Amino acid sequence: MKKIYLDYAATTPTDKRVVTAMLPYFREFFGNPSSLHSFGQEAKRAVEEARRRVAVLINAESEEIVFTSGGTEANNFAIKGTAYTLRNHGLQIITSAIEHHSVLKPCKFLEKQGFKVIYLPVDEYGLVNPKDLEKKLTSETILVSIIFANNEIGTIEPIKDLVEVVKKFRSKQVSSIQHSVSGAQFPFFHTDAVQAVGHLPINVKELGVDLLSLSGHKFYGPKGVGALYIRQGIKITSFLHGGEQERGRRASTENVPGIVGLGVAAELISKSDIISENKRLTKLRDEFIASILNNIPKSQFNGHPTRRLANNVNVSILGVEGEAMLLSLDEVGIACSTGSACSSSSLEPSHVLTALGLSPEVAHSSLRFTFGRETQKKDLDYTLQQLVKIVKKLRGISPFK
Ligand SMILES: *Cc1c(COP(=O)(O)O)cnc(C)c1O
Repeated sequence: MKKIYLDYAATTPTDKRVVTAMLPYFREFFGNPSSLHSFGQEAKRAVEEARRRVAVLINAESEEIVFTSGGTEANNFAIKGTAYTLRNHGLQIITSAIEHHSVLKPCKFLEKQGFKVIYLPVDEYGLVNPKDLEKKLTSETILVSIIFANNEIGTIEPIKDLVEVVKKFRSKQVSSIQHSVSGAQFPFFHTDAVQAVGHLPINVKELGVDLLSLSGHKFYGPKGVGALYIRQGIKITSFLHGGEQERGRRASTENVPGIVGLGVAAELISKSDIISENKRLTKLRDEFIASILNNIPKSQFNGHPTRRLANNVNVSILGVEGEAMLLSLDEVGIACSTGSACSSSSLEPSHVLTALGLSPEVAHSSLRFTFGRETQKKDLDYTLQQLVKIVKKLRGISPFK
């Protein structure tokens, strides 16, 4: 059976060139980068080259990149690290209602320790309004963390505008020495850019963010490796304590093969490729959305029509359980997702879809298709044909019809 993978937001296949580049670092160049002998120095050189490549991808400086075990650790590091660093200056954190769990859960964790977290609402398309952020900023705010592009609905947030709001607020506090730590003014601005890096041109200098998370396996790199960008001048408490790796910012022997793979994955992304691939995917996306809405009665589209990732389609097919459709599609070789991979094992409707104002029923009837390099029009034609059949069958046996 032909298999069609339409779940690139959950993970991407590792590029062959990435795998090839990683292999020598398991056996030939297996040294510990902290070792002073040639084995160690060879590994260290590879790690530093990867750091340079990741920095180039987001227009950062090499020293601003700290390797982590993935997007989850980068988010935890940014949020808890800022909270612990600035807890004597304020206890308020502002985030959004549609963050990934690796942002929401650390926030919930901090709430239990006395921090106050504000979850900004989003509009029906999933957009955070900069005016809402402006209203919530107080002298107690130490961190603002807003997702760059949402993993479930693909909505791309106005990060630059949100950063501007924070910068304006900080400049008004400029007279207050109280409002800076070792010269760095807060609130810090963090963005979970795991769905964006490698898929959209990202320039940290232009954006003005202080902290940014990325993950290798979301852009054809290996799993279990990512990075946190920490702007020069910002110091946050380490998440892992131990050795002096990563200039004392993240203890533990470096995942050398993974880091090399992340570096190559970053190197393989070019701005012109992003632009041409996004053009190709946007066309496929919009045609696929239209074909679902035209061919399946009582179907609706979720998220923003244009301010969205080129590879993301999220629809609700009313009266049919998303999970039932997902399993039926899987039987004919098509892989997609309901909401997000993390929430698919829980019975709670997606917090992202309910934040858009969708009822739990509509949220439960959602499907997410995310495309990538291998996705072709014929795959989507086949998917639509199968989906139409499946929905008819499921509606036939559903008490809702
Ligand atoms: C996948 C994902 C993460 C988690 O990254 P891991 O590397 O899998 O830990 C965080 N945020 C978003 C938006 C994601 O899509």
